[in-house]
Amino acid sequence: MWNYSFFDYTSKPTYLKYVTAFLLVAVVTVLKICLFSTVGGETPFLLYFAVIIFITRYYGSRPAIFASVLTSIAISYFSLSPQNGFRLSPNEALQIIVFLGECFFLASLSFLQDRASEKLDEHRRVFQILVEKSSDCIMMLKLDGEIVYNSPSVVGVTGYSAEDLLGKQLWSLLMPEEITNVKEKFYQIASHPEKSIQFLHQLKHKNGHVIWIDSTIINLMEEPLVKCLVLNFSNVTDRVVRERQMEDFIGIASHELKTPLTSLKAYTQVLEMRMKKENNATSTILVNKIDKQINRVMGMIFNLLDVTKLQSGIMNLNVSDFDFNDLVYEIVEGIQGSCDKHQIVTDLGPSAVIHGDRERIGQVVTNLISNAIKYSPDASSVSVTTAVEDSTLKIFVTDYGIGIPENEIRSVFGRFYRVQSVRESFQGLGLGLFISSQIVERHGGEMGVISKVNEGSTFWFSLPL
Ligand code: ADP
Repeated sequence: MWNYSFFDYTSKPTYLKYVTAFLLVAVVTVLKICLFSTVGGETPFLLYFAVIIFITRYYGSRPAIFASVLTSIAISYFSLSPQNGFRLSPNEALQIIVFLGECFFLASLSFLQDRASEKLDEHRRVFQILVEKSSDCIMMLKLDGEIVYNSPSVVGVTGYSAEDLLGKQLWSLLMPEEITNVKEKFYQIASHPEKSIQFLHQLKHKNGHVIWIDSTIINLMEEPLVKCLVLNFSNVTDRVVRERQMEDFIGIASHELKTPLTSLKAYTQVLEMRMKKENNATSTILVNKIDKQINRVMGMIFNLLDVTKLQSGIMNLNVSDFDFNDLVYEIVEGIQGSCDKHQIVTDLGPSAVIHGDRERIGQVVTNLISNAIKYSPDASSVSVTTAVEDSTLKIFVTDYGIGIPENEIRSVFGRFYRVQSVRESFQGLGLGLFISSQIVERHGGEMGVISKVNEGSTFWFSLPL
């Protein structure tokens, strides 16, 4: 049973290509012999040339060369006549040579085209294999969310077959409470060509289980070959479950540690007062040191609690109107009181009233000034300036310390991130900037840093007025 098309030279057995080439040349030769009495030796090359073009186009370069040789033999046969003693005239010989040259030129073009399309085919296969074997899933979606393509891994992740999914809306796979959220993101991207968005959401597996999915949607509507929204996703259920367990553990542990530590701090303060009354200088110093360590541990615990609150979305803001400069002076005074080495230089612009959580914004300012002091051990000052620009208040905290390497600047606002070079030499959890950036973001502001290694850093944040 022939299961390939007549013209499909890639699937035709090689010998058949040569047989077809031979037959075509033979048919044309017979035709010419039959018509010889009417048209004579006129247009000896035209029909043959058509045969060569046909073979070159559909069967490739080698059968074309074979047909060219056969054709030149046939043409020579027509050109030989008894009148000139069965010899080719120089003109006829030249015509045959030119004809052969044209055929070889055609064949070599075809050869080059074959090579190019083989290479193209190889690349296409490689990408096809990558898509098919990748554990990441790919879906192509229309602007209304209809699924038009699934990579094979989608079956493994969702449990649905490609046929189950094609033509369905993406939303039909989501948990009801997630639909609005995902639709919002989808339509946001649908109206912005070339934009992409990444988000975590849940999905209903065919077997009824709920799985966690990390998705990225990219708008490729303006890519002529794609003209779709492309969704890349992978199953991250194990990772999310582990993270949730870890967060629960941190939340519970820090909460349980907070109560005994608060009592411990109260007892140390009582003890310190007693030692002072008894003029016991050595013990006062020791108790003072214990108090400082307790403060450090409490600071860490409060940070961990803040992270769990942020993670579970239960960090409530206690909003009121307050004067920003007053807050900054208050914090600078407090920090300067316990810091002898650094002079905190303030240069505050016009005062502005902020509508926000005074304590939380104070926590951000404290974090930036404390970091500025901590990460500039050899410097003698840090500076704090504020400015109001276009209904936005900005505060800059500058130090002349160790700075941050350029490739790590973007990461310092990440959870638990600490710059590689400070991990051994400075203590910390890598949470202060993460919490600060979240607080600023929740007030509708922005946060950033400009830094140079060994020259210092300027951390800033802005708040809308
Ligand atoms: P921590 O200071 O507890 O490590 P932060 O979240 O406050 O955590 O800071 C994250 C990281 O950013 C720090 O570990 C440090 O590497 C870097 N960093 C923060 N502030 C500064 C600064 N002023 N100068 C240099 N590096 C800084």
